[in-house]
Amino acid sequence: MNQHTISNTYSFEGVGLHTGKRVRMVLAPAPAGTGIVFRRTDRKGAEMKADISNFHRGKRSTMLRSNGVSVRTVEHLLSAFAGLGVDNAFVELDGSELPIMDGSARPFAEVIAADGLAEQTAQREVITVREPFEYRDDRRGSFLRIEPDSAISYQVKIDFNSKVIGVQEARFDGTGYLEEIAPSRTFCFKREVRLLRLLGLIKGGSLENALVIDEPDRYLGLQPAFDNECARHKLLDLIGDFSLAGRPIAGRITAYKPGHKFNATALRAFLETVNL
Ligand SMILES: [Zn+2]
Repeated sequence: MNQHTISNTYSFEGVGLHTGKRVRMVLAPAPAGTGIVFRRTDRKGAEMKADISNFHRGKRSTMLRSNGVSVRTVEHLLSAFAGLGVDNAFVELDGSELPIMDGSARPFAEVIAADGLAEQTAQREVITVREPFEYRDDRRGSFLRIEPDSAISYQVKIDFNSKVIGVQEARFDGTGYLEEIAPSRTFCFKREVRLLRLLGLIKGGSLENALVIDEPDRYLGLQPAFDNECARHKLLDLIGDFSLAGRPIAGRITAYKPGHKFNATALRAFLETVNL
């Protein structure tokens, strides 16, 4: 399989989920071997690669940082790239956080998929899983397994101890990303909103870009489009976070109660076991 880039440039405008600031973002094709590279036009064109070595923070979003410059909430766009098979692209931003759009990866995935990808001449390299790997975080009750398999697949299970969400599972086996995974939106609990705002987070969050769970028994505003939309979104996030490996992990990935920081820590631990 060869590497692919996007076949056009695409611009987006919107607000950052956490900063609440308006931002303009332009996606552009990139040569083979580039990977995904962010460029801050408001910071003298400072560049940063989507790579686990640049992972900085995972508090309610994935933040990359390099040479004192950061980019926040990269996970939904990275997920769209990985889910559609985009290896190389430039992402120009005039602010510090990607636009949240509708809280999903659909706005990105839809336009990229509509034009099709551009095949490049270099081969795509993958990380081969030779033996089972497991990472656990017993404090948060999470685990993640990576097992050898001939195909790439992701499976996520969540349990928030909430009657509204219940126990949910979602799966991705390399096809149907645009229809099945990309449209799932981010979510939060109404009871958390006040605290998150006090912490300076979700300033751009609204009932238009997130599912808001109002316990004990309902969603405020937007209603889920899938019974397991929350699990699908956690899967979307995991695909984005794991793309920080720099190339696809060819194996079976199973996660229970994943989260951004957990995903990054697990990925780092896994990569240490792999001969790159
Ligand atoms: Zn997300």
